[in-house]
Amino acid sequence: MTQDELTQIKTKIIQEIAHLKEQIIQLEAITQPIAPDCSLGRLTRVEAMNEKVVNDRILDESRMKLKRLQSALSRVEREDFGICVDCEEDIAIGRLMIRPESIRCIACATAFQRG
Ligand SMILES: [Zn+2]
Repeated sequence: MTQDELTQIKTKIIQEIAHLKEQIIQLEAITQPIAPDCSLGRLTRVEAMNEKVVNDRILDESRMKLKRLQSALSRVEREDFGICVDCEEDIAIGRLMIRPESIRCIACATAFQRG
């Protein structure tokens, strides 16, 4: 990995962290418990609760991704950044550009998901 590529990845991590933090704040605001007497406009209460379930899930996923990105940011300057934790080969640069929080190469990630 060149210094230039590393800088690009680091910039991307910082941007994604900022984006996720904003998203989490917005999601936290709309996933507040639904008061029984609240006026829901055209949404019925059931619809509002279904929407809350979906938003709660997105919120959980966003929080997990934020943690992984923050961990990637703390590792990005280290020599072992971009090296697969399983096979110790370099993770493809294209993969790191899309998912900088990756700790496994594509082959190992696929095997890991299959479990
Ligand atoms: Zn691997």
